Amino acid sequence: MKNQLKSIQDTLLMGPGPSCVHPSVYNALATNTIGHLDPYFINLMDQIKGYLKILMNTRNRLTIPVSGTGSAGMETCFVNLLEKNDNVLILINGVFGTRMEDVASRLGANVDVLKFEWGTPVIVDAVEGQLNKKNYDLLAVVHAETSTGVCNPINEIGELIRKKKTLYLVDCVTSLGGMEVKMDKWHIDALYSGTQKCLSCPPGLAPVSFSDRAVEKLNNRKAKVPNWYLDLSMITQYWSGKSRVYHHTAPINMLYGLYQACYNIIQEGMEAVFKRHMNMHNLLISELEQMGIQILVETQSRLPMLNSLIIPDGVDDGEIRSRLLNEYQIEIGGGLGPLTGKIWRIGLMGETAREENIIRLIDALKKLL
Ligand code: PLP
Repeated sequence: MKNQLKSIQDTLLMGPGPSCVHPSVYNALATNTIGHLDPYFINLMDQIKGYLKILMNTRNRLTIPVSGTGSAGMETCFVNLLEKNDNVLILINGVFGTRMEDVASRLGANVDVLKFEWGTPVIVDAVEGQLNKKNYDLLAVVHAETSTGVCNPINEIGELIRKKKTLYLVDCVTSLGGMEVKMDKWHIDALYSGTQKCLSCPPGLAPVSFSDRAVEKLNNRKAKVPNWYLDLSMITQYWSGKSRVYHHTAPINMLYGLYQACYNIIQEGMEAVFKRHMNMHNLLISELEQMGIQILVETQSRLPMLNSLIIPDGVDDGEIRSRLLNEYQIEIGGGLGPLTGKIWRIGLMGETAREENIIRLIDALKKLL
C-alpha cells in the first residue's frame, strides 16, 4: 500500500489562500494533543483570545476562533445577529459579498444589496444615499475582496453608521494580519476572518469578534440562534468564565497552530509585517509592469496581499497555471465569476510575502510567457 501523503510536493503557495506556512506553525500543529478541558489548554485558549484582540485592535470580550473555515465565521456572524424580517444591507463587489447575500437570505431577513463593479471599490456616497432612504438592522461588507484584489473603504462606511442603530459586519478574512484592521476605531460590531490567508496557518479556524452592541443584540434575540453548532451564546460558555462548559470538542492542534501563527506576527511586530506586505506588493507590481502586464485594480484601491493581473492577450489561462504548478511548483489563482479566464490572482499573504518568492515566480512567468 502506498502512502499518498509522501508524494505531496512542496508547493509555493502564491494564490488567494492557503498561503505558505512557517515551520514553527507546522511544529505547533504536531505538538501532542491534550484534552480540551485540560487547564493547560484553557490557559492557551485565553492567550489566543488575547492575541486575536491585538491583531484586530479591539477590546471586545467576545473574541474567539470559531471551529471551521472563513465561511463558518461569516455564517456565525449572520446566524447570531440576524432574526427573521430584519433589514439587511449588503455591499457587493465580488464573490464574498455575493456569498453574504446568500447566507443572509437563507435566514429569512429582508436583504437589500448595493452592487458595484467587480475590480472597483464600494462607493461611499451610494451607501450614504441608501442609508438615508431606509433603516437597517445590519450592514455587511468585505474589507479585502479576494476575488478581485480590491480594498473597500471600511473606515469611511463605519463613520456613516456609527450614530445609527445599524450593526456593522465586516469580512476580514484576507485583510487580518496583512494590513491594518482597527475594529474598535472603525466602529465595527462583528468581524470574522480565516486562518489560511495572512495569518499563515492552514485553513480550519475562523477568528470572530463581537462588540458590546452585537452581544446585546444576541442576548435580546426573540428566537434561538437557528444553528446549534455556531450559537455563540453556548460556545462562549466554553471560551470564557471560570468553569468551562463543553460544547463541542475544540480542534486542539489547529488551535496550537493558530497560537503560534499569531505569536509569530506579534513577535515580528504588526507594523513591520504590514510594511513587508506593502513592500512585496510594490516589488511584484513593478516587476509585472516591466513585463508589460496590466493590473486590474486602480492603484489607490489595491490590496497588498492579493494582486489581480490581466491575462495578456493570446495567453492560455489554464495552460500557464498548470505549467507553473507542475514544472515550477508554484500555485497562483485564476479569476472567479465574470473574471474567469480574464485575470490571475497572485497572493502575497503572510509568509508568502517574501522577496525570494516573488523572484521565483517572476523568473518562471518570464520563461512561460
Ligand atoms: N471571505 C473572503 C474575503 C475570502 O477570501 C474567503 C475565502 O477565500 C472567504 C470569505 C471564505 O473562507 P473559507 O474559504 O475559508 O471558508
